[in-house]
Amino acid sequence: MSDFDVVIVGGGPVGIVLGAALASRWGDGAARIALIDAKPIEAVMSDPRTLALADTSRRQIQPLGFPANAVPLKHIHVSELGRFGRVWMSAAELQRESLGWTVRYGELVSALHKGALTTGLTCWRGVSVVSATESSEGVRMTLSDGREITGRLRVDAEGGLFGGTQGRDTVRDYGQWALVATAHATPLAQQSAAQARERESVAYERFTPEGPLAFLPTAADGSRYAMVWCGAVDQTEQRKSTPVEVLLPQLNRLMGNRIPLTGLSDMASFPLGLNVRSQMVSGRTVSVGNAAQILHPVAGQGLNLGFRDAQALAARLDPVRIEDPVALQEALAAFEADRATDRKLLVALTDTMARGFATANPVMQTGRQLALLGLECLPGARRFFAETLMFGWVR
Ligand SMILES: Cc1cc2nc3c(=O)[nH]c(=O)nc-3n(C[C@H](O)[C@H](O)[C@H](O)COP(=O)(O)OP(=O)(O)OC[C@H]3O[C@@H](n4cnc5c(N)ncnc54)[C@H](O)[C@@H]3O)c2cc1C
Repeated sequence: MSDFDVVIVGGGPVGIVLGAALASRWGDGAARIALIDAKPIEAVMSDPRTLALADTSRRQIQPLGFPANAVPLKHIHVSELGRFGRVWMSAAELQRESLGWTVRYGELVSALHKGALTTGLTCWRGVSVVSATESSEGVRMTLSDGREITGRLRVDAEGGLFGGTQGRDTVRDYGQWALVATAHATPLAQQSAAQARERESVAYERFTPEGPLAFLPTAADGSRYAMVWCGAVDQTEQRKSTPVEVLLPQLNRLMGNRIPLTGLSDMASFPLGLNVRSQMVSGRTVSVGNAAQILHPVAGQGLNLGFRDAQALAARLDPVRIEDPVALQEALAAFEADRATDRKLLVALTDTMARGFATANPVMQTGRQLALLGLECLPGARRFFAETLMFGWVR
């Protein structure tokens, strides 16, 4: 008999949400679900990423844990530098309180981890899985501390960033990196009422010839934003070493002075690209989240998609089915089918946005201006676009 029914390798946000969802459904069987992560939880806190999560993702994970200081996004402003046309998406238009939330990666993982510990699953942090061998009964894994464990099913939730992963069927290198930083701005209270209203709870996405530039509010008083500035690799390196007082006027110009920026801190950079595994299931191994697909962050969809992978897999597995090899393969095939359309749609949408907005080709430039105008002028199209970003293909 195996030591565990399910071994989830990777306790990032997707692995934790999957482990907790299984544990809470399996009751007494919770301890037979193992969640293993290479990093101690304290090490995760220093991750410099801030994520925009759809409100549907927030609802999914809220019972487990959600950072109290997450900031709601009530409006999204999308525009292109030097071009007429913009899209304004509003929570009120969709009869919602918010379109999404901004959260620090480390705070999110920490809140989820705390919640997962109460579900009864077996959780080990600070130890990694270094190798795995599959047989017809299960998967044998060797851990970095020398232990050997077996599981009937191995879930690969090892995540990762573009460039650090192997064995993918679709790989597209956009030749871009993201420079992320905390951007400081004049608080709303120090601006006129009209100016403050213009940018209260607004997330900005600005397309520039070099790549997208986004500002996500991370303080309700308007004093802080998470900046994601995409550009060519050497350009990003150069920006990283440029003095802040030189970058600020450039950023204010690129953003059309929409945000009164006063400073930048905590800069870090990430490689960007598309990296997709066409099959999520291979024998007794299933890949979810970034282990299955890595997307450009242009549409802020990577983690939202990963949470839906976790939810769908948890719904297909149960302690009885996992003991029967035939029933297990049927459940995994059903899971693969459940996820196919949503993954294809979000991969295509993100890829189109990443490529279509980073080109100087005049035909493409006209096309994207028309696309922005179309979204702004056609409420039905705008609603469809916003709902796709919020729900994916799972309506
Ligand atoms: C700059 C940037 C901005 C982004 N913005 C957004 C956004 O706004 N919205 C959004 O939805 N997504 C965004 N993303 C994507 C998002 O960060 C990922 O989709 C998400 O982190 C994937 O979660 P995961 O749990 O699958 O993987 P990860 O977060 O990568 O976690 C994987 C975990 O597995 C562990 N691990 C790896 N190998 C092993 C091993 N062998 N043994 C044990 N443990 C292991 C790691 O320690 C890690 O904790 C952004 C990404 C970047 C780079």
